[in-house]
Amino acid sequence: MEQEQRTLQKWVDESRRIVFFGGAGVSTESGIPDFRSVDGLYHQKYDYPPEEILSRSFFDARPEEFNRFYREKMLCLDAQPNPAHRKLAELEAAGKLTSVVTQNIDGLHQRAGSRRVWELHGSVHRNHCMRCGRAYPVEFVRDSGGVPRCACGGIVKPDVVLYEEQLDGHTLQGALSDIQGADMLIIGGTSLAVYPAASLVNYYRGHRLVLINKSPTPYDAHADLVIAGPIGEILGGVAVV
Ligand code: ZN
Repeated sequence: MEQEQRTLQKWVDESRRIVFFGGAGVSTESGIPDFRSVDGLYHQKYDYPPEEILSRSFFDARPEEFNRFYREKMLCLDAQPNPAHRKLAELEAAGKLTSVVTQNIDGLHQRAGSRRVWELHGSVHRNHCMRCGRAYPVEFVRDSGGVPRCACGGIVKPDVVLYEEQLDGHTLQGALSDIQGADMLIIGGTSLAVYPAASLVNYYRGHRLVLINKSPTPYDAHADLVIAGPIGEILGGVAVV
C-alpha cells in the first residue's frame, strides 16, 4: 500500500480541481451504520426490510413506522467527522478541491468545514412541511413523537431522497459539472453499485481516477489507482501543501 499512497500524494500535489465522490463507507468510519447492510437487528425490530421502509410509498402509507425507523437508524446526530471528512475540507480550503459529491445524508462534510457539497440523496438537516413548506431543524424531527407535524397540521418530511423518488436535478447537474471539470477524481467508501454512482463516474475525463474502498468494486479495472483500505486512514495520510 505504501507505493499506492505515494502515488496518491503525488497526484494530489499535482492537481488543482479534485472532486471527491463518497459513499456510505465514509460515514461508517464515523460510526454511522450503512442501512443497506441488512443485519439481523433490523429483522428483529422491524417488520419490513430497510429498502421498503425508506421508500416514498411506505412513507405515505405508514409515516409512524417510517419515523420510528428513521429516528433510530438514520439520525445519528452525535456522530463526528473522521479524518477523511477533515482532509477533504482542508484540501478545499487550500484551493485544491472543487467539491465533495456524497451519497450520505448526515451533513458530516459540512460539519468538518467543507463548503461545496453536492448531497445527492439530500440531508437529514433539512426538513419541510409537506403542506405549507415551512422549514424545521433536524432536532424538531428527532424530538417530536410519532409523526412530526407542522403548526399548520401538515406532515414534516426530511429532504432525503427516498426510494421511488427522483434525485434533485440541480444537485445532480452541479455534481456532473464538477466531475466533468475535475483533474482528479477520488472515489471512496462506495461499491459503486447504487444508482447513480456508476453513471456519474463516466463523466470524468481525466487520467487520475482513484478508487479507495475496503473491498473490490466493478470499476477497479477502469481506475488509474486502486487502494484497498479504510478511507479515513488513507485520505487522512495525505499531506496538503
Ligand atoms: Zn405547515
